[in-house]
Amino acid sequence: MKKLLFLLACLLTACTGVVPVENGVSRDLARERAARISNLKYDLSFTIPASPEEPCSGCATLRFNLDRKGQLQLDFRPGSQAVQTLIVNGREMSIDAREEHIVIPGRALRKGPNELSVSFTPDDTPLNRRQDLLYTLLVPDRARTLFPCFDQPDLKARFSLSLDIPEDWVAVSNSEAKEESLSVGRKHLSFQETPPIPTYLFAFTAGRWNTAAFERDGRPVTIYYRETDPAKLAQLPEIYRQIDASLDWLEDYTGIPLPFPKYDCVIVPGFQFGGMEHPGAILFNDTRMFLPEAPTDAEKLSRTELIAHETSHLWFGDAVTMEWFDDVWTKEVFANHFAALITRPLFPEIDYRTQDFRNFNIRAYEEDRTAGTNPIRQRLDNLQDAGLVYGNIVYQKSPVVMRMLSDTLGADAFREGIRSYLQRYLYGNATWPGLIDILDQYTDADLKSWSHRWVEESGMPVYPESDVLPNLSALGYGYYPMTERAIVTAIDSVTALEEPYQRLSTLANLYENMLHGRLSPAQMLSCLCGELRAERNPLVASSALGYLGYVWRYCPAEAESLLYELSRNRDIPAQVRISAFRSLVHLHRETVVDDELRGIWLRQQPWPDLDLSSEDYHTLACELALRRPQEMDEIRTLQRSRITNPDRLARFDFVWPSLSPDKFVRDSVFASLLEPENRATEPWVQECLRLLNHPLRQAEALDYIVPALDEMQEIQRTGDIFFPKNWIVATLSGHDSEEAASLVRGWLGSHPDYPPLLLNKILQASDPLLRSRD
Ligand SMILES: [Zn+2]
Repeated sequence: MKKLLFLLACLLTACTGVVPVENGVSRDLARERAARISNLKYDLSFTIPASPEEPCSGCATLRFNLDRKGQLQLDFRPGSQAVQTLIVNGREMSIDAREEHIVIPGRALRKGPNELSVSFTPDDTPLNRRQDLLYTLLVPDRARTLFPCFDQPDLKARFSLSLDIPEDWVAVSNSEAKEESLSVGRKHLSFQETPPIPTYLFAFTAGRWNTAAFERDGRPVTIYYRETDPAKLAQLPEIYRQIDASLDWLEDYTGIPLPFPKYDCVIVPGFQFGGMEHPGAILFNDTRMFLPEAPTDAEKLSRTELIAHETSHLWFGDAVTMEWFDDVWTKEVFANHFAALITRPLFPEIDYRTQDFRNFNIRAYEEDRTAGTNPIRQRLDNLQDAGLVYGNIVYQKSPVVMRMLSDTLGADAFREGIRSYLQRYLYGNATWPGLIDILDQYTDADLKSWSHRWVEESGMPVYPESDVLPNLSALGYGYYPMTERAIVTAIDSVTALEEPYQRLSTLANLYENMLHGRLSPAQMLSCLCGELRAERNPLVASSALGYLGYVWRYCPAEAESLLYELSRNRDIPAQVRISAFRSLVHLHRETVVDDELRGIWLRQQPWPDLDLSSEDYHTLACELALRRPQEMDEIRTLQRSRITNPDRLARFDFVWPSLSPDKFVRDSVFASLLEPENRATEPWVQECLRLLNHPLRQAEALDYIVPALDEMQEIQRTGDIFFPKNWIVATLSGHDSEEAASLVRGWLGSHPDYPPLLLNKILQASDPLLRSRD
């Protein structure tokens, strides 16, 4: 029946040229508009009151060429009550707003130049409004929630923005401000016209920002921030150095200078992603950019990779953009592939093959082994589901595949191919088949069938059963079944393998074989214990501790005493010790250990040569409060008194009630999270959910599982890209009981027609729980 309706709709479109008005942005609507509209410009103005309680207002003027008359749909989600006036080619029109669109009748439009003006009230969701602060985040389809537009990546436009904001605020957008004036407590700013960019990259932020300006060889970079801790602010020159190095690397590799007029970035407290690549106004998460005292290699690498990732997007994604979000992976794969290459020379002491394996393979396997996995390239019929195509397959599996492609062509030919791809599509749009056509000219290999296998099909390839240690090069990808003999050899010899990537790859293979029942969790645990006592490479150790976090429940006492021993032993490398200590803080059960941890927290005196950060003390306070309900208020008072930064204080006050020993209080915290207005700062919400569903409280948290699952569609509708998966992972990760598993199974059974992309997120997140209770 559905198919028949679809055919009818296609016939209707073909006969009349009119695309049906329906929610979201359908592929058909996007195709129809891309074929008709050109030379698009937006003039946007927003008036923003200081208080987040008062509504903003906006005006949009769109100028464009139409190559054919006929009805036109403008995307605007807030609906008719949010539209005040509509003027089409100089004539005020009555407003026909339905199904998230403003419908412009064909008679009001003309072939050639057209002008539409709309005054409206924007929805607050994509503005991320807080006290003294607001920032837009429009990817993938939130622009249509903020202002009337053609919200599709292949209708690039030049944007001219003006803002009316409180006079003591600072504003940043894609281009430089060209005029600024003050009057009666307000500041009026107008910005230069941008180069052609898609709607999802248009951005501005306004609020109380501090700035640090840097410049080298006539290339200025300004960093905006709200951090107040002098030790963290001392990291700003290093952040700039890495931005500068990334820009140099990319200009050299691509042969194309920075394709946008400026590079500024904004470090946002509680930002919901690691970063977002708006040209001229890249947003970064504060905890990813300002590292704790005595950072580990993993934390240092992760920051540099993030900076290099977002900077790579200026070429890959921003200057050359996918035609439709089914190819969003083409921008993410290049950003991660090049981020790894840019990072290498900045950390010559790091074994990059180990880092690539833990970054890409291990994280890709987490999703690719589950029933909810997906191909790298996914079909997308409507832009309203674009947020769901993101995940570890797009970010972590695709760089492994890109490395294979680069190895097939050879580094020089690959670079030539990438250069001609960029030159051909600069400031335009491209598709994956378009790139494969270009690269095909540089090799005799059959790229099309290779692409079909790796890009269009899903799942981990399964290799033939092996009697020797498989994938010791750590360059392969997939599940390598091992014979009993290979497993015994691996357990006995992993510690003695010379290269860190060999040890890491062997641990990963053992873990996958354990999940397939080829060795027991107890065998895996004893292997991890031996390996962790001997491991000197902090990257391998941190991944081994990750595996320990999954299998520790089978022998909790043994795991706890290992972590205690590792964190106290001064012969163990400092970075391995701190990682072990952090695991111990989460997992510990023994009263004597808890007493020692309390002493450390209270006196801020860790074990000798163990450097704890303020974030470590925050985590300690939370874990202690959970285990010591009678001391909860004292712990709160002391921990709170240690926080001076207002953004961190707001986070502390938001999160703390989730720790209450009173189930009634926790239930009301959970109920509040079911209201979208309480979910504005997504990382804080995730922290609450993790604490509410902490392993020690899981029996009392069973009530939250079904409502959290029921809320998923609403989370997708109101939250940003990564929130649906993060929401359900935060809910389920503390649970390992049969009751929890059967609640999830029951829920899945009673939702047979659930939207498939969203279902995949649930299947990925529930995989560890369901597998352990198979
Ligand atoms: Zn990215």
